Amino acid sequence: MKALISALRALQDVDQHRIDAEKERQSIASRVGSLAEMVSELEREQADKRDKLREAERWYRERDRELKEDNDKIKRAQTRLNALSKQKEHAAVQREIETLRRSNQQKEEEILKLVNVMEEFKAAVDEEEKKLESMRQDLAREEASSVERISELDGRIAELGNSYKDFEANIPGDILRQYKRIQKAWLGMAVVPVDAKGSCGGCHRRLPPQLYNTLLRNDALHTCPYCNRFVFVEPQEAAE
Ligand SMILES: [Zn+2]
Repeated sequence: MKALISALRALQDVDQHRIDAEKERQSIASRVGSLAEMVSELEREQADKRDKLREAERWYRERDRELKEDNDKIKRAQTRLNALSKQKEHAAVQREIETLRRSNQQKEEEILKLVNVMEEFKAAVDEEEKKLESMRQDLAREEASSVERISELDGRIAELGNSYKDFEANIPGDILRQYKRIQKAWLGMAVVPVDAKGSCGGCHRRLPPQLYNTLLRNDALHTCPYCNRFVFVEPQEAAE
């Protein structure tokens, strides 16, 4: 029985290393993944803001063109005005020029406001672009270093997978299946020591005294009645 427990513990040891390596691999992948997600989110926002900026610039060019056309209208009216001699016509064109000037002034103010807002917006977008660039660099660095670590871990996982068979060879099939079931259920430890107080090392509940006594004799394989893990008593605990 001692040999079987030892074989299970040896197998679990290999398993534990494999699980640790897999967890590390997963955490690296998820860290890089979430950084990549953040970068692409920011890229989408940037593209959106650049679109808005282009739209505003189009609007600005349109208004600017209108303003120039109106200024030409004023010039033409002025030329007409100079050629007119009748007082009544003179006054009418004068009014026309005044109206155009007022509306032009309003347009100029609007355009100026827009230009200010556009400049502020563009500065903010440029600032964000800088942040995005530094995040891209972070991501590239993370990816480069994680590729190395992940290939290390993959090598380790493969290696552990190979040594697996040697460890499994010492364990009867039904017990091996049970071991795997328990391990899967608890995502980890399937063989746990019982402490000097008789508590399960997995779920920490106190085992029934008669089970503990049986375990001290170390003559059969037993499982915790609460969490189903294989339980054993370390020889030094048993001696006490
Ligand atoms: Zn337990």
